[in-house]
Amino acid sequence: MGKIPCYVCKKLGSHYYTIDDYWHSPHTPEGITEYDRVCHECYHEVKKEILQYKKEHKEENKRLKKEEEKDKEFQEAEVKGKWKKSATIEYKDEYCTILHRMINNKVQFIKAFSDITKQGYRLIVQDEGGSVNIGIINAGMDSYYYFQKIEYITLRDND
Ligand SMILES: [Zn+2]
Repeated sequence: MGKIPCYVCKKLGSHYYTIDDYWHSPHTPEGITEYDRVCHECYHEVKKEILQYKKEHKEENKRLKKEEEKDKEFQEAEVKGKWKKSATIEYKDEYCTILHRMINNKVQFIKAFSDITKQGYRLIVQDEGGSVNIGIINAGMDSYYYFQKIEYITLRDND
């Protein structure tokens, strides 16, 4: 087998490196295969870039992760704050609202229903929690009403 010139600088050198370190790197010389070799100088040049890239990437990832955690904490705190604002409004944020209708909150329920409709939420689905059967009468229902802010409602194609 004859000498293979360096894939990057095309020179013949004495020390050659395989490209194992180049795989999955943004600095992989374009078109290089496992049969190609890279000379000492080019290898270290590219290797430096790879190390630099990895370092930057690590810091970037660290920063992103931190932001994500912060975001999650914030969201959880927000959700906790809004959850069960009242027995009627089970949940509310700028995108959706969940109303809870119980046996004894008919007036508050209607008021809440009216309010959030006015605020631009639309009823998407109703979940009958089921009725409680006491003897021969149905003692009211516990049901949930899911609303979405109108601008976040995805319209079906044929609507
Ligand atoms: Zn070279």
